[in-house]
Amino acid sequence: MVKVPVKLVTWDEIVEWTRQLAKIIKESGYKPDVVIAIARGGYVPARLICDFLGIENLLSIQSQHWTEAAKKAEKAIIKFQYKVNLEGMKALIVDDIVDTGESVILAKKYIEENWKPKELRIAAMQWISSVAKIKPDYYAIEVKEWVWFQYPWTRLEDITQFIKRIINEELREKTTKTTKEQLKQKFREWYGIDPPQDYYEDALKLLEEQGVIELQGDQILLK
Ligand code: AMP
Repeated sequence: MVKVPVKLVTWDEIVEWTRQLAKIIKESGYKPDVVIAIARGGYVPARLICDFLGIENLLSIQSQHWTEAAKKAEKAIIKFQYKVNLEGMKALIVDDIVDTGESVILAKKYIEENWKPKELRIAAMQWISSVAKIKPDYYAIEVKEWVWFQYPWTRLEDITQFIKRIINEELREKTTKTTKEQLKQKFREWYGIDPPQDYYEDALKLLEEQGVIELQGDQILLK
């Protein structure tokens, strides 16, 4: 049984979804003067939305909620609280996904109170309708069953954390060593996907640097 369902997202899907999202925004008649990317997940989608809608003004705010892949922190925070004047402008918040919705809810509140745009709407590629506390004004895909979207821009970070979790929550209790192939098999069991080979190797090297494992050819010693 898969413990954390994961969908491995390709770059092509990102382009397809943001193109679709831009089309929906355009057809709604909303013409934003400025796009606000929610860091870090909204960066790439926001940049593509700017391209598809021909928008030059792009800024960002870091509203952080999930500190680790598929594990959320207690509450969302605005990391760097700075002020800009958006009076008289129509703004569009762009994020990759609205899951609990807490990050965009907090970002929206902060921007309305401190940056004061004339109008502010929210767009995301995915909206997890079964859990989100807010429905974005625009979304490309409604997700009904929760899944972790493994976006290409967090691939190494996610895969490293996924492996670490297998080691800490299962393997270490049972053994002191494993092999690359056995660990990969565990990865499939836990997440329902194969880790991409190059990222798998990079993640193992990172975990060795962090002192979590020691690599000896195909053998992995758990430390
Ligand atoms: P949230 O505040 O729960 O709506 O999520 C905040 C951010 O965490 C999102 O913008 C994503 O960058 C990341 N995130 C949350 N849930 C997921 C998920 N199911 N798949 C991929 N990334 C996620």
